[in-house]
Amino acid sequence: MPTDATYDPAGSVPASEALFARAKAVTPGGVNSPVRAFNAVGGTPRFIRSAKGAWLTDVDGNDYVDLICSWGPMLLGHAHPEVLEAVGAAVARGTSYGTPTEPEVELAEAIVERAPVEEVRFVSSGTEATMSAIRLARGFTGRDVVIKFAGCYHGHVDALLASAGSGLATFAVPGTPGVPASSTELTLVLPYNDRDAVTKAFLEYGDRIACLITEAAPGNMGIVPPEPGFNAFLAETCRTNGALFISDEVMTGFRASRQGQWGLDGKQEGWTPDLVTFGKVMGGGFPAAAFGGRAEIMRRLSPEGPVYQAGTLSGNPVATTAGLATLRLATDEVYAHVSAAAETVKGAVAEALTKAGVAHRIQATGTMFSVFLTDRDVRNFDDASTTDVTAYAAFFHSMLDQGVYLPPSAYETWFLSSAHDERAVGQIVDALPAAAEAAARVQQ
Ligand SMILES: *Cc1c(COP(=O)(O)O)cnc(C)c1O
Repeated sequence: MPTDATYDPAGSVPASEALFARAKAVTPGGVNSPVRAFNAVGGTPRFIRSAKGAWLTDVDGNDYVDLICSWGPMLLGHAHPEVLEAVGAAVARGTSYGTPTEPEVELAEAIVERAPVEEVRFVSSGTEATMSAIRLARGFTGRDVVIKFAGCYHGHVDALLASAGSGLATFAVPGTPGVPASSTELTLVLPYNDRDAVTKAFLEYGDRIACLITEAAPGNMGIVPPEPGFNAFLAETCRTNGALFISDEVMTGFRASRQGQWGLDGKQEGWTPDLVTFGKVMGGGFPAAAFGGRAEIMRRLSPEGPVYQAGTLSGNPVATTAGLATLRLATDEVYAHVSAAAETVKGAVAEALTKAGVAHRIQATGTMFSVFLTDRDVRNFDDASTTDVTAYAAFFHSMLDQGVYLPPSAYETWFLSSAHDERAVGQIVDALPAAAEAAARVQQ
C-alpha cells in the first residue's frame, strides 16, 4: 500500500494540474520530452517531487510504484545511498572543468570491461551517441548510406527520424517536419527481423552502405526481441559488404543483462558489433552517454583521426562518477533480482489480462519486458501497431489510480529496479485485476 496517508485513489491532483498549466504556458506541451505529456493516454502527468527506491512521490504527496525508472537508467532504484554519496563528493570537488579527469578513465574502463568495445568516447545523450557513431561510420568507410529498421528509435537524429519510402529498399522520407528530405535520402528503413529485406538492400546498395544501425533488441516499440541469429546475420552481412554494424545499446546496455543485449546473444553466437552506443544506465541518472568500438575505428576520431566530434560537458566528472558508482553496484545479484521481479510482474499481468479476456502478448529480453494488447506475436513495427491503445489507456489510468506509474504509452518497455522489493511488486500485482477489467470494458 502507499506509504502516504493522504493518497487519494480517486486521483485528484491539484498541484500537478496547476504545474501542468504553468508548464504549458512556457514549454511546448508542458514537457521537455513528448511522452511525458500523457498525450497517448490522456489526463494530467504527475509532477514528481522526489523519489526513493522503487517509489515516486508527486507534488500532491501521492506515492507510486515506478515502472518507468527514468526510462531505464535507475537500475538500482532512486536515490541509492552509495550513488548519492559518490555524487555528493564529486559535486563538492567542482562540477565541470573542461579538462580530462579520473572518473572518465574509470568509467571507460568499466564499460570496456563489460561490453564488446575497445575504446569509448563520452557524450551527453543517446542522441549524440548515435549521431556521432553514424558520422564515424561514414568517415571510416567513406560511404554515405545508412540502414535502420522501422520502429527502432535512436534518438532525434535527423537522418534517423525517417519513415520507409514507398517500397522496400527505397530511400526514406522525413519522419517529422523540420527534417529536410536531403537528410533522409541516404537512409533506408527496413522491416525488423526481416532477413530478405536486409539481403535485398545490400544487393542493391552494398558498396554505398556505410553502416546498419539497430537497437540491439528493440525496446522503443515495446520489446521486440531479435529472432535467434538475427543480430549475428546483421553483423555478418555488414562484414561481408564492408559496412559497419552499429548496435544501439542505449536502452539495453547494462540493463537487459550485465553485458547488455550482447551478453544475451552476441557473446554466445560469437560476433561483435563494430560500434556500440550506450546511454541511460551508464549515466546513473545524469546526462552521460557514449559510443565505442574497435580501436581501429575509434582512432579515426579527432584528435587522433580526421572525424570531428566534441562536447563541452562530455565526460562531465559528476555524471561519470554517477555512472561509475552505478555500474560498480550493478552486480550479478542486482540483475538476478530485477529478473525475478520481472518474472513475477509478467506472470501477474498475464494472469490478470487472461482472466479479464484481454488479448495480449508479453515480450521480453533479459530483465526488460513490455505488454502488447494484441492477439499477434510481435516481430516488427507493423505487428506492434496492432496494439489496442484505447484499452491500454484504461489499463494505465486504473494502475495510476491504484498507485502504479506505468509508461504513459502502449509502446514502451516497463522498467524495474533492484529496489523493487516485495512491497512494491505486491502493490503492482494487487492493482492488476482491476486494471485488466478496465481494459476489457473498452477493448476494441
Ligand atoms: C533513449 C534512446 C536513445 C536516445 O537517448 P537520449 O539520451 O534520449 O538522447 C537512443 N537509442 C535508444 C535505443 C534509446 O532507447
